[in-house]
Amino acid sequence: MAELWFSPSQLHFSTVHVRGKTNWVSFELGDSEGTFGSGEITATQLASDVAPVVARLANKLRGEKLSSDDDVLKFNRLQPADLEKDVLLATAVSGLRCAVADALAKRAQLPLHRYIRQQHGHAGDPANKVRLYANINRSMLPNDRGPVDRSPETFGKMAERAMKAGFITAKCAPFDECRGPHNKVGLPNCASLGLERVRAAKDAVGPDRTLYVDCHSRFDLNSGFALGEELKVAGAGWYEEPVDPIDDMEVMRQIHARSPLPNAGAEMGYGVAIFERLMQEDVLDIVMPDVKFCGGPVEAYRIGMELEPNHPGSVSMHCPSGPLSLLASAHATAAFGNVLPLEHAVYEVEWRHEVMEPFEQIKNGEFFIPDGFGLGGRVDPVAVELRGRRWDE
Ligand SMILES: [Mg+2]
Repeated sequence: MAELWFSPSQLHFSTVHVRGKTNWVSFELGDSEGTFGSGEITATQLASDVAPVVARLANKLRGEKLSSDDDVLKFNRLQPADLEKDVLLATAVSGLRCAVADALAKRAQLPLHRYIRQQHGHAGDPANKVRLYANINRSMLPNDRGPVDRSPETFGKMAERAMKAGFITAKCAPFDECRGPHNKVGLPNCASLGLERVRAAKDAVGPDRTLYVDCHSRFDLNSGFALGEELKVAGAGWYEEPVDPIDDMEVMRQIHARSPLPNAGAEMGYGVAIFERLMQEDVLDIVMPDVKFCGGPVEAYRIGMELEPNHPGSVSMHCPSGPLSLLASAHATAAFGNVLPLEHAVYEVEWRHEVMEPFEQIKNGEFFIPDGFGLGGRVDPVAVELRGRRWDE
């Protein structure tokens, strides 16, 4: 096959207001022939805006012949190490790498998951659907009218709704009132309400289905030991990020050494090297690359291909954001052939599926990858018109 390339000359951003402080931000990178690639850059954890950084990096790509998403780094003279410690830059690069991969797959007239496999000499057909788990957390964040109920009963109701919709795994993040430092030996008092929420959600999920628990890095060494034991008793299926496994790697390694549950985390990591290290150094059992931070769908595929053959069930993509990043994550997950489910933030807004063209399709806890080349979908300009805005940098 002749070498394919994509030479971007246009860049358009758009945002869709979701609820409360949440907006889904994405962009399209296009060439003069009308080929566009998309990337999502929603980053709720960043104070600075990602869009100007995307625009600055994209300027270096204008007029160049890009034949791989790695060219985003090449033409900006960036090394993976430059991105490991800079989440803002990593988010911008990941979005651009996603958009370039989307455009190149369109040029190759292949769906993205097939294009990624072809580029890596990976034989066989990827699946066209991906098993999801239902993260109920964002359905209980403040909406446009203010905070919403976060009682254990509501955690139970949301978990029940997910089970009725056909999911076999749910996740909650019940400890958001907890703040370190924790001076008490053992379990801090602030964790009691969170544990009640876990028990209510687990009651709804039932003994035969799974509940993951995300601790949003709100604990420390001693409270982390104690919490693991409590979560085991409460029937949790994994124990995610009592501390940040990248920033506090040694503390996480010690908690992991005594953890009665599998430990998951590292949602902010960039590049295959950091995820390999976390596994080799026994920091985690499960790594959670996020397509928006880890380098995009091609890098996520490489992480899956590097880790899954030696540690089956060690990669579960993190995806609490909009439908464009879920689509890109589904392509990557299908391409490497996942064992664990992919994250999906459920019940944040009822109209979520309408943001995409074609509509996002999720049935019985499974994501259906749309037909079509590249990602096979894009953020619908009509949805942007209705619920957000479009702009150029
Ligand atoms: Mg998390």
